[in-house]
Amino acid sequence: MSTTPKIMESNFSYDLTIIGGGISACVFASKYLQNNITKKIALIEVGRGLGGRSSTRISETFKGWKLNHGAPNFNISNTKNNLLLKNYIDELLENKFIKIDDSELISLGDESKFDTFKNSEFYRGNNYQSLFSMRELSQKIIEFKNSGSKIDLFFETLITDLKFNNDVWTLISENGDIFKSKYLICSTNLLLHKRSLKILKKNEIPLRKAIPKNKDKKIDLLLNLLDKQSFIPRLTFLIYTNEDYSYKDFYSRKYRYFYLKKSLENKYKFERIIFQLQDNNKLGIVVHSKNIDFLNSYTNAKDEDFFKQTIFANFNELFSNNASVNQLTFNEGMSIMKWRASQPFGSAVPLSLQFIRKYRIAFCGDWFEGEGFGRIEGSILSALILEEKIRNYSNNCLSI
Ligand SMILES: Cc1cc2nc3c(=O)[nH]c(=O)nc-3n(C[C@H](O)[C@H](O)[C@H](O)COP(=O)(O)OP(=O)(O)OC[C@H]3O[C@@H](n4cnc5c(N)ncnc54)[C@H](O)[C@@H]3O)c2cc1C
Repeated sequence: MSTTPKIMESNFSYDLTIIGGGISACVFASKYLQNNITKKIALIEVGRGLGGRSSTRISETFKGWKLNHGAPNFNISNTKNNLLLKNYIDELLENKFIKIDDSELISLGDESKFDTFKNSEFYRGNNYQSLFSMRELSQKIIEFKNSGSKIDLFFETLITDLKFNNDVWTLISENGDIFKSKYLICSTNLLLHKRSLKILKKNEIPLRKAIPKNKDKKIDLLLNLLDKQSFIPRLTFLIYTNEDYSYKDFYSRKYRYFYLKKSLENKYKFERIIFQLQDNNKLGIVVHSKNIDFLNSYTNAKDEDFFKQTIFANFNELFSNNASVNQLTFNEGMSIMKWRASQPFGSAVPLSLQFIRKYRIAFCGDWFEGEGFGRIEGSILSALILEEKIRNYSNNCLSI
């Protein structure tokens, strides 16, 4: 895999370019590489590594820690028994990239209603965990079919503008790099959604600017539907415990999940708490919250230390009589991730709008319709379906 070093304002040219380096992009790239060995492919990601919302924080302050800061694992509900998805999951299992997640799931607040957690959106169906960190899972997925470095990866590169002229896409990055590509895959909908106006400081949605209204019905429909899609904001607190912090009881598996019943979630403002055993045997703790009051108070918090005190106090009160979890001492380290858009919410985009041949543009990600909407399941499935569509298209007519 070649990671191109940053050169100021360079020009690049590719057959196919993928924007985004989350799990959806990695699955798509892996499958595409398998079948298109001669093409020049680029993947462009604004972050420092792969994985996107299902990645891992490798902290520069807290050395040696790897905490999955978004999705810690994933579930496949797959009630329609989709063979494409099933075969792919089997492939990941056979290659020992993932395994069945047999971690303990503990419901806090009402043990008698345990089944309600088992049916929760992140637990329904079969649960899988990466045999590495979540970031490494995305890396492994790409490397798997990338012998001979067929894909160029660009990190810390934010695409802010798109143009489509003479059947060629031009992508312009924040720092002036220009990428020309015959085909474009967007695995993120940032450049298609109104939130781009604020985030990228634009006065028009980049895709809308590239393909003006009334040029293509499918693109108009896609943008109209996305106009009704919003996102769930979240906070995750990453707690780096002290050397001697451990469970009260004996528990040796890598993860342990605590889900809170609604009344407890309202009281403590935590959604779930995931203990993540590190390679060096230290115990990391990731606390998820989607409580709006909490989000607002964090946004307005002038003193992050004061906020940390609140998190730790809530944690200690929640677990005060727990048989497994020890109290925090307030000496532990903590970092906070604020997710403006942790999961899409509202209208999902139909898969029929995934590939717009006339404009040589296609899309994948968790924002497409289906059981996996808003989850890794949807990201993977949409990528597999897209790759199959493109393969059928190139087999039947022009090559892509
Ligand atoms: C806190 C949290 C907890 C979650 N828990 C679960 C869970 O338990 N189970 C589950 O299944 N799902 C969970 N999810 C959802 C899951 O993480 C996502 O559904 C999945 O990771 C989405 O993958 P993706 O590839 O579709 O998108 P993303 O991971 O968002 O990938 C898109 C990538 O594109 C990059 N990008 C965006 N715009 C640009 C641009 N203009 N230029 C360059 N790069 C760009 C982004 O940086 C990102 O890396 C959780 C999400 C969060 C945030």
